[in-house]
Amino acid sequence: MSSDHTPPHPPFARWMAQTNSVTRTFLAAARMPDMINLAGGLPAPHTYPAQELAEIAREAVANHPTDTLGYGPIEGLPELRDALADRFSTDTLTLTHANVLITTSGMQGLDLLGKTLVDAGDTIATQFPTYLGALDAWRPRLPVYRNMRLESPDFMPERLMAGAKFAYTVPNFSNPTGRLIPGTIRRHLVQAAHTTGTWLVEDDPYGGLLFDGTPLPRLIDISAGILGTDAPYQGPIVYMGTVSKQIAPGLRVGWMVAAPEMIEALALAKQGSDMCTSGLTQRVALGALRSGLIERLQPDLCTLYRMRRDALCTALDTYLSDLFEWEVPVGGMFVWAIARDPTLDTDQVLHRAMQAGVCVSPSSVFDAEGTYRAALRLNFTLNAPEQLHEGIRRLALACKP
Ligand code: PMP
Repeated sequence: MSSDHTPPHPPFARWMAQTNSVTRTFLAAARMPDMINLAGGLPAPHTYPAQELAEIAREAVANHPTDTLGYGPIEGLPELRDALADRFSTDTLTLTHANVLITTSGMQGLDLLGKTLVDAGDTIATQFPTYLGALDAWRPRLPVYRNMRLESPDFMPERLMAGAKFAYTVPNFSNPTGRLIPGTIRRHLVQAAHTTGTWLVEDDPYGGLLFDGTPLPRLIDISAGILGTDAPYQGPIVYMGTVSKQIAPGLRVGWMVAAPEMIEALALAKQGSDMCTSGLTQRVALGALRSGLIERLQPDLCTLYRMRRDALCTALDTYLSDLFEWEVPVGGMFVWAIARDPTLDTDQVLHRAMQAGVCVSPSSVFDAEGTYRAALRLNFTLNAPEQLHEGIRRLALACKP
């Protein structure tokens, strides 16, 4: 039969109509020659420890062929789960392998949360503005969002979390704002999770990228302190980590630390997702943890990114301080620039900026409703200082046509 007679294909699923075109635009732009990409959340590629990882990978395949080349347990490589349970255990937080699930990076963890907890119409309470990848991961579940504006003087976590399937936060150098959730609000959030029973997700890809000052306590540690027992953790916090920002995102290895009942539910969802995370990259991640690679890389990584943060902020001071205000982040990968004029539409700015040869992330993509238009997320880790300077010069041209 000729293709003229082919009946129409069935439509794509309903959620496909709800994706935003801005994301596609800036992902495509990132590949254009001479485009300065300030839009993504990418590490500087020259920091990937290629030689060390090649050596660990060679040793892993040679000495552990079944682990690296066969199917593995859904929950992850037992040695890696044990190593992570050890790494995150403290005087107050007791963890065993039953508290740990290995994921195919942080993004899969977000996807599994949606799959495990959310039916169409269920509520997710999210720190506002919200990581775009999380909104993308949960879109097929057709959730309803409650925005948690943590800086608001009348922020009441109990009210926003009660009845939600889970609450989502990025306490360290949030994506997109680069801010830290202060200690008092951390305690308030955790207390609300204990009071309401709602799962509270602590997504922490950036915690290791602290440039200035001392780290604030993790939500899961605060929660363990409230529980006050030596038994393995049973509380409401779901902690998420990844090797993406401190070793290499191409490994696609992440982890979730939570109560065993949650780990079991997530593992059931993972079974129908990818069966298991690559044994090869889990072994590489294990080798990197055991050899102290993260700790060895961290000081240089933080020095590099601190310098790039300063270069971006200096360029903003030079070209855009009349139009935007921002806080200098003490870590992470992003500066959040808020327009002094609240009617400025940064979706429009993006289109003009791309013509000027720079790509940025407009605030609309970090809002489940897509309506918050007056801010920009600017990445400082990918580009060298001269490119950051040139990128902000081009952005200023786009903002002042
Ligand atoms: N959570 C947040 C807040 C992120 O910014 C990212 C990466 N941009 C991720 C999760 C996922 O990262 P990965 O899948 O590379 O671990």
